Amino acid sequence: MSLELKGEWDNDLKCFSPKVLGGLKMKSGIIEKVGVIKIKETPMPKIEKANDVIIKVKYVGICGSDIHIYHGQNAFAKYPLVWGHEIVGHVHEVGSEVTSVKVGDRVVVEPFIACGKCYSCKNGRRNACQELKVFGAHIDGGCSEYFKVPESNAHILPDNVSLEDAVLIEPFTIGAQACYRGQVTKDDFVFVMGGGTIGLTVAENAKILGARVILSDIVDEKLDFAKKHGAEFTINAMKENVADRIFEITGGMGANVVIDSICNKKSFEDALTFVSNAGRVVELSFNTTPSEIAPILLSKGEVSIMGSRHQTNRFPVVIDYVRDEKIVFENFITAFYPLEDMEKAFKYIEQHLDKTRKVVIKLY
Ligand SMILES: [Zn+2]
Ligand SMILES: [Zn+2]
Repeated sequence: MSLELKGEWDNDLKCFSPKVLGGLKMKSGIIEKVGVIKIKETPMPKIEKANDVIIKVKYVGICGSDIHIYHGQNAFAKYPLVWGHEIVGHVHEVGSEVTSVKVGDRVVVEPFIACGKCYSCKNGRRNACQELKVFGAHIDGGCSEYFKVPESNAHILPDNVSLEDAVLIEPFTIGAQACYRGQVTKDDFVFVMGGGTIGLTVAENAKILGARVILSDIVDEKLDFAKKHGAEFTINAMKENVADRIFEITGGMGANVVIDSICNKKSFEDALTFVSNAGRVVELSFNTTPSEIAPILLSKGEVSIMGSRHQTNRFPVVIDYVRDEKIVFENFITAFYPLEDMEKAFKYIEQHLDKTRKVVIKLY
């Protein structure tokens, strides 16, 4: 598909001027229905509100949740859907009242909109908004040449991070939120269950907070990678008894915070057996299968279970980590694909689930 973009080329922005683009079409990556993903022409966004920001999208990361939507495993997803919530690019055009970003700024997108009025919003927990609208799930996302967001959803990037690495900031906010919910401190042993992308972002965040991190997985390569990304101790759950190792490492206490990124029936049940008295279990799962948990596991040691979803106010935190070079992004991204090969990228992830950390679509 080729688009005819007539008009003035803006050499600074490496794109056509907004006036020329108004009313024109752009390319978007669309999950049309379950199992069908296509590149289609969609209308160019236009500035309509004074706080609108249009971003020329450079990279979009593919998340496990995008794959779930592609497979029909998210009951709340709308179809057809422009997918994508891990979005970075340059500010292309701004509304009349936008002050925090300007044309040309490099930004990362905070990927949801909250109502601001419900109980959760009023209590500083916009991520748990009753009317939560997540880009690339409930409303169209950012796998488009241009993407419009409210000003407050665009965060300026520090100069020392490449746009390639910056596409990982959103996943790192998920790890930051899990640590925040688990009240991780420097005095804690944190046990991260699962060494996938999210488990790794949890491990790095916990280490930055000064905690001692234990991470389990069943793939040795993933454990080796985790050792370079936050984990001090690793456990291969296929070869070792996880509980024995946890209690050995923690001197018989158990992990003070257990963060479940495996997210199945058994992992939630297991988490309660690894946690210390007065500890916290953080659950990231969207699994609908009930787990069997004896209440005594909570009451005996006053254990708390926290749900963790998206993030609240973690973008500034993670961006500060990036500025201070506390996050190790090295080798996190497994592959880049141009938009034209988007379907191949989704297939690649399906076929290499154990080896894929992050696959990224490059829009220009
Ligand atoms: Zn995601
Ligand atoms: Zn709300």
